[in-house]
Amino acid sequence: MTSPVLEVSRIRKVFGGVVALEEVSFAVAAGEMVALIGPNGAGKSTCFNVVNGQLRPDEGHVALHGRAITGLPARKIWRLGVGRTFQVAATFASMTVMENVQMALLSRRRRLLSLWPRATRLYRGEALELLERVGAADLADRPCGQLAYGDVKRIELAIALANEPALLLMDEPTAGMAPGERAELMALTAAIAREGRIAVLFTEHDMDVVFGHADRVLVLDRGHLIAAGEADTVRNDPRVREVYLGP
Ligand code: ADP
Ligand code: MG
Repeated sequence: MTSPVLEVSRIRKVFGGVVALEEVSFAVAAGEMVALIGPNGAGKSTCFNVVNGQLRPDEGHVALHGRAITGLPARKIWRLGVGRTFQVAATFASMTVMENVQMALLSRRRRLLSLWPRATRLYRGEALELLERVGAADLADRPCGQLAYGDVKRIELAIALANEPALLLMDEPTAGMAPGERAELMALTAAIAREGRIAVLFTEHDMDVVFGHADRVLVLDRGHLIAAGEADTVRNDPRVREVYLGP
């Protein structure tokens, strides 16, 4: 069996007296869409922060393609191919969509910003390809600040893809979107993940989106992973129903 892209083993993370994660273990394979769900405060964002190096776990290990990355600086982990999209839009509002993606490509190639004027010519074709992949080529010359919210989300996806991620972490990617738009963004993400063999780990509150687009679902409750498996199995798990529907 090939090693998974991401392997998280027995992670523990404590904030003061609050145990945010305890004995959390799971893996994500290439091309797989995995949803991490759980009520507010369950530890989902903390889990993402531990994986991408923003937080150091108190115990446990994180491996990327079988290589230990636990405790490496976030920038190094990003270099190794861990991309992330944020709940709050992270584009430069006054720059065009094209410039935002070109900037991301420049950063990936570790080129200095002083190369910017040349980079805008150098990376135009590549940036356009990325925009085509997310269905936003027609928005290339629009300033990001003028885009509809759903479009910004697609541009963020293009920016994340510019880093050629092996693993993409998406923390509440559809927050603030209309239900129809949510399904569209996640269908697009799933298609890109499958085509590019990218492992995707995402959090999501809309259960229709979760069970419609995740291959597997992990359920966190107060820092503990209480269920993990194929979407249909998890959906019918009595403990999951209890957490979501109350006793
Ligand atoms: P989720 O993303 O599932 O809503 P979080 O990972 O943000 O949950 O939070 C898990 C728990 O850890 C919560 O009790 C939260 O208050 C706590 N927590 C998260 N980040 C910090 C922090 N930087 N300092 C102190 N407590 C934190
Ligand atoms: Mg969160």
